[in-house]
Amino acid sequence: MQTGIEVLAAGALGSAGWTLLEYVLHRFVFHGASATRIGAREHRRHHAQVDYFAPAWQKGLAALGVTAVVLPLLVAVTGALLGISFTAGFLTMYALYEILHRRAHTHPPRGPYGRWRRRNHFAHHFVDPRRGQGVTTPVWDVVFRTRLPVEIVRVPRRLAMPWLLGEDGAVLGAYAKDYVLVGTDRADDDTRRADTRAAMENRSPATY
Ligand SMILES: [Zn+2]
Ligand SMILES: [Zn+2]
Repeated sequence: MQTGIEVLAAGALGSAGWTLLEYVLHRFVFHGASATRIGAREHRRHHAQVDYFAPAWQKGLAALGVTAVVLPLLVAVTGALLGISFTAGFLTMYALYEILHRRAHTHPPRGPYGRWRRRNHFAHHFVDPRRGQGVTTPVWDVVFRTRLPVEIVRVPRRLAMPWLLGEDGAVLGAYAKDYVLVGTDRADDDTRRADTRAAMENRSPATY
């Protein structure tokens, strides 16, 4: 019989396990060699078009598929309680990742963690998509030496997050030490095509 501590530890391990998978998927699948793999295609479209997020049903299906394989295996090896606890920790962290990633794009930061998360993620989007792969934690970028030390993130005006800007279209004072707008807000077919090409090739979008 497992103790409460063991069950909690299995849940914590599941959460940590998700953050590692988040990093590995993001680095080696979404930004991997093939741009046409299902996860890569959707993710690079998100880079080209920052308000695009892969449909929820695709994510739900992927989570269900992973759970269907991993849960019975874990239960067989560790017993039902630890297996379920690990899987619950893993899935909770995955759901949190989805929420935190989307909110980074749609809502302004609140507190130091929100600020770090946005600076890191938008540096990943706009400075170097091959680094800063961790969305919820910097740990794996530190471990695998892909950290993206950025003082001030240069945001192409046409791709700017809505929360960053005031009514006059300039960066709000509260974020001026973290972000600067570059280029024009021209978002015609040519710039869209160029942004798509850059995203497919894991390059940052042009700053004209
Ligand atoms: Zn993003
Ligand atoms: Zn990415």
